[in-house]
Amino acid sequence: MRCRGAREVLIRQRDGILRAMDFTLTPMLADQPLFVALLHDITHHKQSETALQRAALADPLTKIPNRRHFDTFLEKEWQRAVRSSQPLSLIVLDVDHFKGYNDSLGHAAGDACLQQVAMALQSHALRATDIAARYGGEEFVLLFAETGFEAAATLGETIRAHIESLHIPNPGSTTSEWVTASLGVATIVPTQLDDLKSFFVAADRAMYAVKDAGRNGV
Ligand code: GH3
Ligand code: MG
Ligand code: MG
Repeated sequence: MRCRGAREVLIRQRDGILRAMDFTLTPMLADQPLFVALLHDITHHKQSETALQRAALADPLTKIPNRRHFDTFLEKEWQRAVRSSQPLSLIVLDVDHFKGYNDSLGHAAGDACLQQVAMALQSHALRATDIAARYGGEEFVLLFAETGFEAAATLGETIRAHIESLHIPNPGSTTSEWVTASLGVATIVPTQLDDLKSFFVAADRAMYAVKDAGRNGV
């Protein structure tokens, strides 16, 4: 039996399957080591709790991490980078002329396109300390721990090229035949004095600079 917290325990059945139990121990008599042990099986409850927690962290359309998941992840990696003095790189990515895509091909096609883009992005966030998330609408973010600017910029270019190479036609675009994206990259070796928000703003600004320069770039 392994104790988890004050009252929840995991009990291994004879067949090896673990069951979650609420465990209470009540003394019967004050001066004798006599107890009543109560075990209440909460396995199903724990399973649905885990499923709910998982669902709360995923974007329903693309199934990749959502903004809430990303923000928690970033906060954790930021603190870790402060302690280790390692660089942290952030990529903000916005799909180009996506309104035109929806307007010309319909919202359902737009949804499918976002799913394809999300899958492409996820294939570049490979380490346990990397994450690709849908931040909202047609905007995505990627975080790479222990990654300097040069490496992050190279990753950004690889990701940009990957999206273009999907060859998803975008009749609503005025800058390319295909669906493309604009990416902003920011790198920081954070200290206690740095502000996470400014880091995000830097990547966002870099992304908008690419938009202004004609899109489909890093
Ligand atoms: P830019 O190149 O400057 O980024 O132009 P844009 O058209 O991509 O940007 P804009 O912000 O004008 O349009 C974004 C569009 O994304 C509008 C909105 O309808 C669409 N969109 C946001 N979320 C979803 C979604 O979940 N599914 C679909 N199909 N479309 C979405
Ligand atoms: Mg856009
Ligand atoms: Mg946008």
